[in-house]
Amino acid sequence: MPSPAPSRASTPPTRRTALRHRLAELRGGDVPALPLDARALAALAANPGCRRRALLDGAGVDKTALARSLGAPSGFGQSQFAFMRGNAFEARVKADGGAELLRLTHGRLGGGSEPVPGESAVPDLAAAGPEGRAARTALALREATESGGWTLLDHPMLALDVAGTLAFLEPDAVVVHPDGGWTVVEIKSFPMIDGSADAAKVGAAARQAAVYALALERVAARLDPAPRIRHDVLLVCPKDFSNLPTASAIDVRKQLAVTRRQLARLTRVEDIAAQLPEGTTFDVRRPAAELTAAVEAVPATYAPECLAACELAFHCRTRAREEGEVTSLGRSIRGELGGLTTIGEILAAAAGASGDPDDPAVATLRRAAALRSEALAGAGAAAGAGAREAS
Ligand code: SF4
Repeated sequence: MPSPAPSRASTPPTRRTALRHRLAELRGGDVPALPLDARALAALAANPGCRRRALLDGAGVDKTALARSLGAPSGFGQSQFAFMRGNAFEARVKADGGAELLRLTHGRLGGGSEPVPGESAVPDLAAAGPEGRAARTALALREATESGGWTLLDHPMLALDVAGTLAFLEPDAVVVHPDGGWTVVEIKSFPMIDGSADAAKVGAAARQAAVYALALERVAARLDPAPRIRHDVLLVCPKDFSNLPTASAIDVRKQLAVTRRQLARLTRVEDIAAQLPEGTTFDVRRPAAELTAAVEAVPATYAPECLAACELAFHCRTRAREEGEVTSLGRSIRGELGGLTTIGEILAAAAGASGDPDDPAVATLRRAAALRSEALAGAGAAAGAGAREAS
């Protein structure tokens, strides 16, 4: 059974309107909101503690333009070449009415008799505007479920209510199985070598697919009986170093749970906004100094992973380094250092100037510092002996 929507449906309309106005003010009066997409929602789920990103995404601020106005444009994004290569691979995977894609889906996930090429449905999902496409997709999903055959929905449109605004999401494909189950398909151009692919890339694809699965749950919840959304999504990639597609099923239950929790957290965007000083704006046309103050007024949790996921990464990295935050070295290091949160505290603890010697992190740091001193002393002595011999 699909879970209930973690949306703002229960928020009173007046409060919702007030929040919408507040977020528009933050964005800058006449600036249109940048729509949220699955990549942005997945990135939010990947850095749950970052209030800065939650607010900026919730307000629909164009973070690419904001980073530029702050003087820290990021290299975040996909190269044109990678984009074209991805499109060409996707077209190949979906050729001939999706025959190969449906064969891979059946092979990895079952859900009915083997699809017969040419006998599967590929409904036309064209309609005016994203709302129209989302309605057309919902209708096609219902008809496909009732048909009892294989159906490929190529680039369907799904809507998800996030922080009072509708995010329109466009998965690569959704397959409806003869048993009535729905599967999200992600087609990526990174290779799958000997059946496995780069773990970080697979993780990012799984988080993105979980957002789509969540949006599909909203569509399914309106049908009676509600169809089953499969928690195994299908990841399709080039096989080894060829152009041939191969696929693997990925269980995204964990990512779904995280994304649900994060979307529930997004309803508190109004709380983050309420703590900002009067007159704060992220209008990218304002001077850099004013924008910097506005951005700094919202707490952030920078980690190196931000470099691959957020447009503000260069700005936040610089600030995190200036503050000596341990997270700038990586979340795993931060986790191992317990209560030591700045690089200054770590160096002081290692030098014996502060810190509880019974704290395992402090003891390890002091042992490491002693070993380093010994190694440096040994290297210095060896270099001195070498110099004497040479003379
Ligand atoms: S780059 Fe900055 S705003 Fe973006 S997620 Fe990381 S800390 Fe948050």
